[in-house]
Order: sequence, then structure tokens, then C-alpha cells
Amino acid sequence: MVDRTLKVLLVEDNPGDVLLVKEMLHSAGEHRIELGYTNRISTAREILEGTGIDALLLDLGLPDVNGLDTLEKIRRIYPDLPIVVLSSLEDEEMAVSALQIGAQDFLVKGTINGHLLTRALFYAIKRKELDSRLLFMANHDSLTGLYNRKFFHEQLNRSIAISSKHTRKLAVLLIDLANFRGVNDTFGQAVGDQLLAEVARRLQQGVRKSDTVARMGGDEFGLILEPVHDEVHVSELAKKIRENLCRVHTIEGNEIDLDLAVGISLFPSDGPTAGDLVRKAGRALQLSRETGGLPLQYYDLSMEETLKIRKELRSEFSRALKNHELVLHYQPIVNLRTHSLWGVEALVRWNHPERGLLFPGAFLPQIMGTELIVSMGDWVLREALSQLFRWTNKGITLSMSVNVDLLQLRKPDFVSRLTKLLERYPSIPPRLLELEILETSTAEDFPNLPEILSDIHDRGVRLAIDDFGTGYSSLAYLKHLPVDTLKIDQGFVIGMRNNRENLAIIESIVSLSRIFGRGVVAEGMEEMEYAPLLIKLGCDHAQGYAIGRPMPAEGFMEWRREWLANDGSEKLLPLPPVNELSILSTQVEHFAWIQHVLSLVQKASSTALSSTEEKVFSSPPAQEWYLKEGRAHYGSIPAFQELDSLHRESQEIAREMLRFIHERNIEGMRYDSRRLLLSKDTLLALYGTLQKDALFRSILDKPECS
Ligand code: C2E
Ligand code: MG
Ligand code: MG
Repeated sequence: MVDRTLKVLLVEDNPGDVLLVKEMLHSAGEHRIELGYTNRISTAREILEGTGIDALLLDLGLPDVNGLDTLEKIRRIYPDLPIVVLSSLEDEEMAVSALQIGAQDFLVKGTINGHLLTRALFYAIKRKELDSRLLFMANHDSLTGLYNRKFFHEQLNRSIAISSKHTRKLAVLLIDLANFRGVNDTFGQAVGDQLLAEVARRLQQGVRKSDTVARMGGDEFGLILEPVHDEVHVSELAKKIRENLCRVHTIEGNEIDLDLAVGISLFPSDGPTAGDLVRKAGRALQLSRETGGLPLQYYDLSMEETLKIRKELRSEFSRALKNHELVLHYQPIVNLRTHSLWGVEALVRWNHPERGLLFPGAFLPQIMGTELIVSMGDWVLREALSQLFRWTNKGITLSMSVNVDLLQLRKPDFVSRLTKLLERYPSIPPRLLELEILETSTAEDFPNLPEILSDIHDRGVRLAIDDFGTGYSSLAYLKHLPVDTLKIDQGFVIGMRNNRENLAIIESIVSLSRIFGRGVVAEGMEEMEYAPLLIKLGCDHAQGYAIGRPMPAEGFMEWRREWLANDGSEKLLPLPPVNELSILSTQVEHFAWIQHVLSLVQKASSTALSSTEEKVFSSPPAQEWYLKEGRAHYGSIPAFQELDSLHRESQEIAREMLRFIHERNIEGMRYDSRRLLLSKDTLLALYGTLQKDALFRSILDKPECS
């Protein structure tokens, strides 16, 4: 029982009855009840707002309202308040109704005494506590304390009713945590549970008082945002929610980078019922999840069409696999320096009976994440190896690169099946097979990946990271992967010419690959003119339309014959120096030189430099370019003249630096380092201007000199 003093509010219009109740309690010697009273429901509300009333003793026959209505109203406003109803009538029906509405007890005046009344009040409080707990359990999720799916639906119905009445709008958001399975697999379920609780907490913190947050099950959460003005408003709210959640969460010392997919439907535009809204938000979520699409995906009707097409394509594709409609095309990868043919990349195509030859972009996204990609991958591997076998038998040695999806690698028997496949072709050295995995798929949500890759690598098969530069591989992670090759994403190579950032990225990927002792291949070499620059950057291998497009096996053989016949020279030689590219490559060299000088100065402060190292100070790169080609082509462009003098100035600084080094003048070394560093920014701007001006001039076609 409760053993503290209870504050009970009596709402009673008859002063005689008030006295009677007081008297009853007094004569029962009951000191644990502190009785307050009011005769009107309107004042009762004021009192309830202010003080901590434990229970309400309510007379059903009040002057200002109808009794049961009053009860219902109070129940709605104070759902947790225990209520005992007093009535002067012995009205069975009324008693049942009062209990149904939510009163804890029904007492008839004149038939009770002080003890009974006290007991009724104490029981009412206990019963209410129990009711509340049961109700809480029925409506809440035990792990996160959020509302559950059942309550979410009930609340949505209520919200819809209110919104229709006031012609207001509301939004339903379904949120799904990306890679939650990975979190459970990697860090264990206890951490997964804590992450869910953390998400729940942040969700609840991040919404308005009028919004509802629920856990729909697993890693899916549901939100009712009400009221909302329009789509822009919903997006603002949803963006805030995302920002609050999409970050690194530290749980028990583990860093978990969380991402979400969000599906959104709106009332009234997406339908009049809770079922409609939840279903449509679910469709939007499904689309966002499957395509890795927009972070906030609104439902729209075309989605049904997209999902339908996807479903049809999947069943068509599974038929295509059985009907041998897939083919492989092979794209050459060559060494730009030696012109030798290094190997091919196998690229899948679908020979569609009606639509003709389909490229991966037309079907891979639709089958991503399904078993179909695994079956396709199996076929590709078998076919690529049998082709490699045919070539090897003819004495043609080539490396065969095959794209592998993460889902294939996740199959527990992948390595053993690969081993069996290789055993079928003992004449093929396993190092001729290179598996390419996408950089984005090396994410840390696949804890066993390094182990599986090591297993594969131990069998002699080479590994490459595809589309490198597009993901977020950390250096530390990369260092631990047994990867042989980094394939620079074609976007950087294609964009190399007119965007110096791309150039800088390529440069850093190449130096990264050097540091870790990996090979590097540039993808997307669309123009032969890139070759000298790629070579200069240290990237010797390339693949791209300029060298050869992906071709069927026979076509590739023909291409190869031609390539070998003229040592690839027809394409790779002569390497016409394109003017703008020569500016770019000079810039790269110049920057590399400054960097080198700066690092040597740093070294010189602790150890002596070798004579080769000292030579670097007096031999700036591109000297010849400035004196000959550069001056001849761009001598009249003001930016070139400025560059020329800046170039000379940095030469002088470097010479002075060397003197300071010999004199062990640390201050002087520091001073000159700063000067050289400062000149970098000016150089960058000047090279940019020169390139632009040169480009304009070439467009206007006014060659300056012969
Ligand atoms: P990827 O592995 O990065 O393959 C290179 C893509 O770039 C190929 O597109 C190729 O045709 C294209 N390409 C080559 N040279 C150039 C160029 O100079 N310029 C431009 N713009 N593009 C060039 P494709 O064949 O359409 O394949 C697209 C992607 O589909 C592949 O990108 C790969 O991620 C995936 N893929 C292809 N075959 C398979 C496969 O058998 N299994 C799996 N899982 N994925 C595959
Ligand atoms: Mg590839
Ligand atoms: Mg690629």
C-alpha cells in the first residue's frame, strides 16, 4: 500500500456532502489523506494544473456539466489521474459507464464509511498505476521506450481525424538504418541494442512536441510529423532529423558511422487512411533503400511503375541467365610506357531478345542486392576463366580482370568455389586472374572482408580496388587489404584536362599506391593525349576508349593483332604534346619540386643532405619548358611572363636556402620556406590563368608563332 500522505481533490457541489466526506475520513482516524475541495469543474482544472493531486473524488451530479461528460473530459486531459466517482444514485448503468470511461471505482453516497472510502482511494491509485504500466507495455517498445507499431497506427488514425477536421497536413516518415545488420555482426547485439536506444533518444529529442516517434520493429522507425505546411517544411524537419542521426556514434568505445534511408508520404495527398500513408512511405523507403537513392524519398505514383518494372526485369533476368543471354566483352588494359598489352577487363552484357545489347547500367541497378547478382557473378567468373583458358591454350598470356560484387564475397563458400574453379584449369596461373571490388564496397560494414580477401590472395589470385577515389577508404584500412592494384575512377581521368582538382587527386592516388606498393591503372582514357600526362604522373597502366572499347572475344583478338603489329605505336606514338596539357604537366612538376625542396629543408635541420639532394635546389624542373616551348607558345601571354619571373624567383630562393643550410642558419631556412610556400598560391592562380588564356587563344585559332 501507499504509505505517504495522499492529496485528494473532492469535486462536489453539495456543501453537506463535502462535510460528510470530511467527517467520514476524520471518524475513521484517517490522517494519510489531505482533502482539498472545489464545487466546480472549471476550478478543479486549475487546481489539477497546479498541485500534485494524487487522486480525484468526483461527484457525477455537478451543476456546470453533465457527469459522464465531465468524467470523460478529465480522463482525456489527465489520463494518469486515478478517479473515484461518487454518486447519490445507485445507478448500475451509470456505474458501468463510469468504469468504462476510465474511473477506478464507483461509490454510492450513504452506503460507504470512512474506511471504505480510504480503501477505495488507495486501491484506485494502485490500480491506476498497474493500468498505466500495462497500457505502457501494450503501447511501447521495451528496448527503446518509444511507441510501438500498434500505437503508431492508432495514433495515425487519430491524427488523420484531427487533421481532416482542421484541414491540416501531416507527414509520415519511415526511417531505416543503413547496414544495421553489419553493426550487429561486427560489434555484437548488445552494441546494436544500444545504438537503437541512442537513435530513439535522438529521434525523440529532434522532433516537436506535437510529433510522434515510434519503433516499428527491427531497425525501422516511424514518425508522424503534424502539423506541416508543405513539402519544403517536411524536408526541413526531415533534414534536421537526418543531421541529428547521421554521424559517428561512439558506443562502448566502438565508432559507428550511421546512415539512414527515409521514405515519406503526406496527408492528404497520398491517401486518406493510415494504411495508405504507411504503405506509401514504405514504398518510398524501399526504393530509397534498393537504389541507395535520395536521402529523403517522397512517395509518388511513378514509384509504383519503377517498382513494377524492376520486378519484371528481375524475373526476365533470371530467365536470361538460364537462356544464356549474357555475354562478356573484353576491354584491353595496356602499359603506356612500353605499349605492351597487360590484360583485359571482362564486362558483362545482356543480349536481350527484344531490346538488343544491354549495358550493365540498364540492369545491374535493378538486380543489386538480390541473389541474381550472385548467380550472374558465378556465371561471369566461369565464362571469364574458360575464355582465359582458351587464350592460354593458344599461347596468349593475358591478365583477366573480373568485377565481383560484395554480395558474392559475402557467400560463405565463395573462396572454396573459386578454388574449385581454378583447379579445373591447372594451366592457368592464378595470378592471371584479378578480382575487382568497388571501393565503396570496402566499407567497414563487412568485418570479414579483409579475411576473405586474404584467403583469395593466398591462393595467388590478384585483387584490385575499382573506381578508386569515389569511396572513403581510410589509409589505415587500405594498408591492411591485400590489394595489388588501384583503379583510378574514370571520372577523375576524363575530367583531368579541365579540372586541376582531378589532376591533384590522380597524383595523390598514384603516390598513395607507391607508398603502399600497389599498381595503379587509369580508367576512362578517352583521349590518347592523356598518355604523356599520365606517364608523367607515374601512372603507367591505362584502359579506355582511346585504346580500345570493350569487345567480344573475337573482336578483341582482331584488335590485339593490330596492336601488336605496330606495337600500339599507331595509337600511342607520336604523343602529340597538347599545349594545355603541357601547361598542366609543368604545373604538376613545379609543385612537386617545391614540395621536394620544402621537405629537404626540413630534413636538413636535423641531418646533412647528400650531394644528390643538394642538386635538387639548383635544378628546378621545367627549366627547359620555360626557356623553349613555354616561351615560344605563350611568351606573349601576361600570365606566362609573370610565371616566368616567379619561376626565376623561386630558383633564387632555393639557391639562398642551400646557402642557409650550409651556414646552418635556421632562421633563414624558415624564412625562405615561408616565402616558397607563399609563392605556391600565386603560382596556382597564374597557371590557371595561363591555361585559360591559352585555351581561349586556341579556340580563337590565332597561333602566336610557327
Ligand atoms: P567498371 O568496372 O569501372 O568498368 C569500366 C566501365 O567504364 C565499363 O562500363 C567500360 O565500358 C567503361 N569505360 C571504359 N573505358 C571508358 C572510357 O574511355 N570512357 C568512358 N566514359 N567509359 C569507359 P560498363 O561496361 O558499362 O560497366 C559499368 C560497370 O558495371 C562496371 O564499371 C562495373 O562496375 C559493372 N560491371 C560490369 N560487368 C560486371 C560484372 O560482371 N559483375 C559486376 N558485379 N559488375 C560488373
Ligand atoms: Mg571494373
Ligand atoms: Mg571502374
